[in-house]
Amino acid sequence: MSGTVVIGAGQAASQLVATLRAEGYAAPITVIGEEPYPPYQRPPLSKKFLSGELEEERLFIKPLEFYAQAQATLVLERRVAAVSLGDKAVTLTNGERFPYDTLVFATGSRVRKLTVPGADLAGIHYLRGIADVKAIRPRFEAGKHLVIVGGGYIGLETAAVAARRGLKVTVVEAMARCLQRVTSKPMSDFFEGVHRAEGVTILTDTGVHGFEAGANGQIVVKNAGPDLIADLVIAGIGILPEQELAQSAGLVCENGIVVDEFARTSDPDVYAAGDCANLPSKLMGRRLRLESVHNAIEQAKTAALAIVGKPKPYDDVPWFWSDQYDLKLQIAGLSAPDDTVVLRGDPATRKFAAFYLRDGAVAAVDAVNAAPEYMIGRMLIAQKKTVDPARLADPAVPMKSFMA
Ligand SMILES: Cc1cc2nc3c(=O)[nH]c(=O)nc-3n(C[C@H](O)[C@H](O)[C@H](O)COP(=O)(O)OP(=O)(O)OC[C@H]3O[C@@H](n4cnc5c(N)ncnc54)[C@H](O)[C@@H]3O)c2cc1C
Repeated sequence: MSGTVVIGAGQAASQLVATLRAEGYAAPITVIGEEPYPPYQRPPLSKKFLSGELEEERLFIKPLEFYAQAQATLVLERRVAAVSLGDKAVTLTNGERFPYDTLVFATGSRVRKLTVPGADLAGIHYLRGIADVKAIRPRFEAGKHLVIVGGGYIGLETAAVAARRGLKVTVVEAMARCLQRVTSKPMSDFFEGVHRAEGVTILTDTGVHGFEAGANGQIVVKNAGPDLIADLVIAGIGILPEQELAQSAGLVCENGIVVDEFARTSDPDVYAAGDCANLPSKLMGRRLRLESVHNAIEQAKTAALAIVGKPKPYDDVPWFWSDQYDLKLQIAGLSAPDDTVVLRGDPATRKFAAFYLRDGAVAAVDAVNAAPEYMIGRMLIAQKKTVDPARLADPAVPMKSFMA
């Protein structure tokens, strides 16, 4: 019996092992990951691990003993090069071959790289893994000038840690506002204002055209405005699903590995979970690819339950969080540019929420330091609840009353 082989040793893989064993799966489990670490959490990489508040071991989702006790074999620092669906086997770059009864793609995503001239200069970094943070650290020091390309969540979280550490920070964003792809203007305005108050320079509508080597190992950032001289550049311009392996094996892929509500791919013995998967969401009314811890965990559980013959469809409200300074932003649902935005609370108090109404029903919420708005908002989204915008905007009206 070959059992289950998992490609990728990240958030989804770790959950898959836990759920398979908890559900009584008795066959062998082999997890193959190219990084030299057991599965770890990535969110702290742009937060407390970058700031140095969290040690490396604290990133690991489970201690190594967990995998030993679960009799799951971790094959680390090995990359799967090919998958043969016909032979039911995977082959590593070193030629090693692992047969499987069931295969799970938990390959995550990779950063989108800058393609402008000079983008391969030393000192230009991305933020996806532990190795990236270790490469960034030597120049991540007070007084250095950090240029962040991309004003998305990763860019802004990095800006917050850097500003507090005393770096001089410039965020260069090609769009008209930071977070434009993911949130409404009031939220973007709020976060831009917070960063500016912390001393961060934000340049919007500013594309980066290229990089040149400057004096003393510095980097000249060519952009729509005057050149910027950086000691360090970190780019956070999005991620791409790690789907090529699945695609070349013949699995259906389209913005991720296409799966059904049970995390099953176009081959009935092959599953995909986490950032690499494109799933159907009845709740959201379309197919989605989600890049969040919650999705990786829940989809891995879904795959495990299907593998042990207890299939349970997955259709949760997507949720995500971002920590910047003293602000905890919690996001549920997926907002769209045409939604009606209802603000509840005053952004000046640093405790407020933006609700997104679609056809009168709550479709998404962004809550800043506002746990009830987030928690009840998530329930309202699940129920597609219609609400009175005027009451929703009034903080004196308890959130609970909208559940009635
Ligand atoms: C800096 C940062 C901050 C984040 N912050 C948040 C946050 O605040 N909240 C939130 O919800 N989410 C956050 N995320 C996203 C979240 O971490 C991801 O959605 C989650 O890790 C996805 O889990 P996964 O198992 O799909 O992929 P991963 O955890 O990325 O694991 C995939 C693994 O597969 C390996 N792999 C890929 N191909 C192969 C191959 N061919 N052979 C062997 N191994 C392979 C990869 O190297 C990787 O180790 C953040 C991500 C980053 C990078």
